[in-house]
Amino acid sequence: MVRAEERAHVDVERARARITSGRHGFDVAPVLRAAGDLRTAFERTVTAFESTGIVSTAHAPALRRQSVDATTLVLAWANSESTPRDPALRVARTVAGIVGNAVLARASDDVAESFSFAGWTRAHCPCCGASPDLAMSTAAKRTLVCWRCDTQWRTTHRGCLGCGANGPPDVARVPSPYLGYELAICNACGRYLKERRGSPAHALLVERALTAGLDEAAEQRGLRA
Ligand SMILES: [Zn+2]
Ligand SMILES: [Zn+2]
Repeated sequence: MVRAEERAHVDVERARARITSGRHGFDVAPVLRAAGDLRTAFERTVTAFESTGIVSTAHAPALRRQSVDATTLVLAWANSESTPRDPALRVARTVAGIVGNAVLARASDDVAESFSFAGWTRAHCPCCGASPDLAMSTAAKRTLVCWRCDTQWRTTHRGCLGCGANGPPDVARVPSPYLGYELAICNACGRYLKERRGSPAHALLVERALTAGLDEAAEQRGLRA
């Protein structure tokens, strides 16, 4: 909904040249700032949350007041600043994440169009430099997904993306059959990744929401994404 209407402001040729030379394509703050006033997108997302019951009607007016600082909220999400404790601010962070992800995914789509990431062998995102939060694996390939801009790229690494540990006892896999995911945990360096067989069953936004419990479980163990 947000994605279709936001225009990306990214220098596509410069981003591709950087990726080809082994650096990630763009820095997210200028792209988010160049997206202009994010208030409308923020308010629309609040309305969508309200209509689906994710946000109670009682909280919606307070959230709309937050929209004045939509760009600041989106930058806080993009920089992974610590999650606010206040319940309304927590929801505002979630809304900001949806808006920011839409803007950045659009920028990354523009970079990726008719361009291959095949030469990119690193464990961080070729477009924005963030870590993957999801992996989609088959016997033949493992595809990583950027938590921030949804870019997907292939990797030859099968083990931990943090330290390269490959297999037990360093890497443990905790299956979650109902979700179709495994939590891949590295006991050597403390990283985790949510991994599934094959393609995602839903939009990435939904996949992330459905597997949020795996993140909580990992964080309770003191692991980091
Ligand atoms: Zn990214
Ligand atoms: Zn590791």
